[in-house]
Formats: sequence, C-alpha cells, structure tokens
Amino acid sequence: MKPLVIGTCECHWLNGGSFRLDGGAMFGQVPKMIWQHYYPPASDNTIALCNDPLLIRTPSLNILIDSGLGNKLTVQEQALLQTGPWQLLSQLAVLGLSRQDIDLLLLTHGDFDHVGGVVMLNEHGQEELTFPAATHLIQQNEWQDMILPGPRGQESYWPLNFKHLEKSGRLQVIQGDHQLCPEVRVSLTGGHTRGHQLVEISSQGDTAVHLGDLFPTHAHSQPLTVMAYDNFPLEVIACKELYFAQYRQRDAWFTFYHDPVLRACKLGAEGQITARWS
Ligand SMILES: [Zn+2]
Repeated sequence: MKPLVIGTCECHWLNGGSFRLDGGAMFGQVPKMIWQHYYPPASDNTIALCNDPLLIRTPSLNILIDSGLGNKLTVQEQALLQTGPWQLLSQLAVLGLSRQDIDLLLLTHGDFDHVGGVVMLNEHGQEELTFPAATHLIQQNEWQDMILPGPRGQESYWPLNFKHLEKSGRLQVIQGDHQLCPEVRVSLTGGHTRGHQLVEISSQGDTAVHLGDLFPTHAHSQPLTVMAYDNFPLEVIACKELYFAQYRQRDAWFTFYHDPVLRACKLGAEGQITARWS
C-alpha cells in the first residue's frame, strides 16, 4: 500500500494483528441499530478490528506508534479475542527495515492491544525487547498506572508486556508535550486512560494527528460516540471537541489504529467525513 505523505514524512500502516471485540462495548451508549451499519456484527455480537501501528519515516528517524498485539498471547487469549497474526517484523522487512532500525516507539497508552509488541518471544521462546535500539516513550501518569494498576487497569495493563522495559534502559517517561524531531511531537490528552497521549506529524504545511483510542475508528467521528472501554468518557468527549476543531482548521488527516475500513480521514464541521484514505 502506498504511504500517506505528510510533507517530508511517509506514514505506513503495519499489520499488528487483528482481533474481534464486542460491538456494543466499542460503541458505548450508541444503539446497535446505528453502529451495525458501519461494522456488521457476527452472531456473537463481535466486530472485526485491526491493531495496526503507524511507521513514520521522517528525514532523520524511523518512528513507530504503538506495537500491535505481539506474539505472546496464549492459545486461550487468541481464541477469546479471535486474533489474526502479528506481522510487524515481516512488514518492516518489506520496507527494507529490521527491528534495529526503529529509533523511537511512541506508546499512546499501556493497554495490551497497544503495547503487546513491545516485548516479543524470540525463536528460542525467550522474551526480549522487539525494538532493542528504540527509545520507548510513554507519559508518566500512564507508566504509574501500568506498574500500579487499579482494579480496572489490571484487566488491560499486562505486566509481561512491559516488565523488561524499565531495566532495559530504553524507557523514557515524559510529562505533557514533547517535540521529538522537527516533524513529530506528542501531547498528553488523558481521557481513554489517565496518561493517554496523541502524536502529531507536521511538515511543509501538511498535518496528520494520531488520536489513538480517543478516535479508534471513523465511525467514532461524533464526539458523543465513545467506547465503554474509556476510563473517563466525559474527558474523551471534551478532547474530541477540542482536537477535532483544532486539527480541522489545519485540514489535518486523522489517522486510525483500530479501523479495518479506513486508515485516515479528514473531518468537516458536523463530524462528517470529507476525505478518506484507505
Ligand atoms: Zn485500543
């Protein structure tokens, strides 16, 4: 697939493993009679979703946003989530890149579907960092909640996904906004989780913004359409109103991690989709 070009940067989507989640949970209070037109559910009420990291190639850095499901899921977890294979490394190879070539791994937050590929099982069945040369960036609030989760966080923050990270020396815990290179910056949003962050790519007047799980699929383009998985739904609504208005003004692309239909879209003032990238 050809990349989305933002000025001097290329954005490639990589297959991080598909899964199926309950459609009702994905669309919160939205009635099934509405969401089923976007994502027709199977008989078990699940809908197909992807977990596809973005590779951003800037003139100086290879940057990955999140890491997909990884290859450590148990047989039971694979069956429960109806997963497809994690193909990050083979897809990087197609682009001429190896695990060592990733300079930065930006983690929007610590849920298993976003950090599952941080630590992988190697050919000997041993756990190791998937991207050993990468600096792994995460917000401080998020890291605190990952290592000391509350009852709800325990369901989605899985220690095997990040227990090797701290002692690897490859973890960088940040607070708030952080410019990583001339084209890419991250910003703390909260909402989905306390320490959730967005990624902005901006170059030569073009902009793309990755809102992570604040805007998981194009069918979540109305600010009130939030997921049952959101920890702070009112914050998610406020974030969407703010960022949609802010980035619409810049004619930005909104990029997706979970959407099997669209990779990115642009939005009009009423939340309608005015441009599609698939
Ligand atoms: Zn997610």
